[in-house]
Amino acid sequence: MKKPLLTYGLSKAGLKHISDVPNGLKCDCVCPNKECGKPLIARNRSSEHKEIHFAHAPGADCGKAYESAIHLLAKEVFKELMEIRTPN
Ligand SMILES: [Zn+2]
Repeated sequence: MKKPLLTYGLSKAGLKHISDVPNGLKCDCVCPNKECGKPLIARNRSSEHKEIHFAHAPGADCGKAYESAIHLLAKEVFKELMEIRTPN
């Protein structure tokens, strides 16, 4: 299975989508995986990349960034909703 591309990075202001940051290291985002936290490179020039995404520096991918981003996004949704509905 193809590894999903990372489309959210962690900025000082919270999660940022790839389409909301400047290209390259100027995105000022780090890996959402707390144990990693390495700077991310925004690859958001659609002329250069078929699918825009964040990348670690070559050889620095921790392999847990995507899962961590989903985890943090879910937390943001729950914080916004302030409720969880469960089946009876
Ligand atoms: Zn990482």
